[in-house]
Amino acid sequence: MDIVHLLPDHVANQIAAGEVIQRPASCLKELVENSLDAGATNIQVIVRDAGRTLLQVIDNGKGMSQTDARMAFERHATSKISQVEDLFSLHTMGFRGEALASICAVSQVEMTTRRQEDEVGICLEIDGSQLVHQEPCACAVGTNLKVKNLFYNVPVRRKFLKTDQTELRNLLTEFYHIVLVYPKVQFTFVHNDEVLLDLPSGTEKQRIEAIFGRGRTHAFTSNLIDLRTDTELVSIRGFVSKPEASGKNPQQYFFVNGRYMRHPYFHKAILTAYSGMLPGDYAPSYFIYFDIAPEAIDVNIHPTKTEIKFADEQAIFQILMAAVRESIGKFSLAPTIDFNREGELEMPLPTAPGNTIGRPATGMPHIQVDPTYNPFHRNQPAAPRNWSTLYPDRPAAPKPADDAQLPLYEHDIPTGVPYQYADRYILLPTRDGLLIINQHRAHICVEYEALLQQLREQKGVSQQLLFQEILDLTPDEMAAMETILPDLRAIGFAIDQFSKTSYGISGVPAQLPQSDALTMVRDILQAVMETGTDVQQRWQEQIALSLARSIAIPYGKILTQDEMQDLCDRLLSLPTYSRTPDGKRVVTLLSNNELENRL
Ligand code: ADP
Ligand code: MG
Repeated sequence: MDIVHLLPDHVANQIAAGEVIQRPASCLKELVENSLDAGATNIQVIVRDAGRTLLQVIDNGKGMSQTDARMAFERHATSKISQVEDLFSLHTMGFRGEALASICAVSQVEMTTRRQEDEVGICLEIDGSQLVHQEPCACAVGTNLKVKNLFYNVPVRRKFLKTDQTELRNLLTEFYHIVLVYPKVQFTFVHNDEVLLDLPSGTEKQRIEAIFGRGRTHAFTSNLIDLRTDTELVSIRGFVSKPEASGKNPQQYFFVNGRYMRHPYFHKAILTAYSGMLPGDYAPSYFIYFDIAPEAIDVNIHPTKTEIKFADEQAIFQILMAAVRESIGKFSLAPTIDFNREGELEMPLPTAPGNTIGRPATGMPHIQVDPTYNPFHRNQPAAPRNWSTLYPDRPAAPKPADDAQLPLYEHDIPTGVPYQYADRYILLPTRDGLLIINQHRAHICVEYEALLQQLREQKGVSQQLLFQEILDLTPDEMAAMETILPDLRAIGFAIDQFSKTSYGISGVPAQLPQSDALTMVRDILQAVMETGTDVQQRWQEQIALSLARSIAIPYGKILTQDEMQDLCDRLLSLPTYSRTPDGKRVVTLLSNNELENRL
């Protein structure tokens, strides 16, 4: 008997769906991209239960004819290309004709659609690739597509979905990637009957503000500098954050020819441009839009991949880095313009529309850029100026051999008198040699252990703030906050939802300084979101680490003998103390043997 046969279509579609539609966010991306391809100027996204039960996209695009509406759900059905050559002159987001076929293979789809020229539209119901109902219907011009019960027939996939908060964050992230490139198109995003985002048509900057401004006017975009450069190879425009406005929770986005992309190499170009201007763990925000000839990039890789290959990456690296440097430089000289020489100067920085800071108007005086400008030098502690570059914060490196050779102290810790060196190290004589301890990291280790324990035992003690502080959040941050709320309370934060887009903080853990409640919660939130974790233990560790960092004694702080002794005792009684929880070296031992060899 012959055993080779073709797979039935619905089976083939379900297999293909696994590649294109991995989670509600990938489904949302495909639907919204289709609406944009259809020329919509208004797109509404309606979601229930983070997309598990409903993902609906309503657009006012060109709609489909009755036949097209049926065809659209077949595999490789597309109106966008017909021959391979078309791939190189694409003006649409989709082209594979796989999305709708994949979506309807793993969900229950209901669609109504009508073109301008048709009197009536069509309504279709498709259930796991099978057409179950079809009839003409009265509806608005455009397409209204509901995806219900995603993965209802693929239990494995359904099971692998994360918590609603995580899936909602994924949806919003995907949504940001799209709406940031289409500021002219009006979007709304509704989750469980709540409007999370209402984005009117506007400029790129207004769109950025509407998403990240957290309800305050120009709170976010006033910290951005314009950037623009045009070369034969590539045009780059966008915004980067002012060095002193950069922070620990940067928003970083690259787009190429209207698509979001990840590009670690270009990311490095931007960091290089800022190098020396930002303290260790600060990073700039950026929104960079590349325009490049389609032949010079390859987007035709896996449909869900956001990495894009450029033909000339090294050249673009240089162009980008120079452009960012120039923007920062131009911005930083603004305060040093000499207004005493009035009359010689025209209005130095033109603000006429379209005439951005990056493009001096004619007649502007020549201005010297101060290459040593560093907004943070003012606030730097007595520590060596560039300590953060002398001791770059690297991710956990493989443990070097001497980690293992550190002495272990069980209960009694026989040590000599500690001595503080260079306001950042503690030198501690021990039986095995001289331990050199990084004071800040040592303190992180001991506070981390203590905090983690409090968190697990829910024993955090709270101190009241005099005034409630309001933390404004973006929708994806709101979702993350909901996840970690019980743990924040367990560690001693008194924190409650204040409005649809904010939380009120009225108490902080007793051991924390009262002054930076907002920064602390924001840092925690960011750290948890970056880890993208769904595992409570992991985010508890993040919370403990963020808090430990903010209470740890800083470099440059002069310690008393008692403080040093106490810190050393607590450190050495930890089960391991060679590394911080995020892998940075805490101590090094100059062993007696080594000393004898040298002297
Ligand atoms: P692709 O976008 O790669 O062509 P899809 O499976 O996403 O493939 O869509 C198939 C076809 O259905 C599209 O080429 C388009 O003609 C039509 N279509 C899908 N969504 C819409 C929409 N919202 N409005 C108008 N036409 C649509
Ligand atoms: Mg498509």
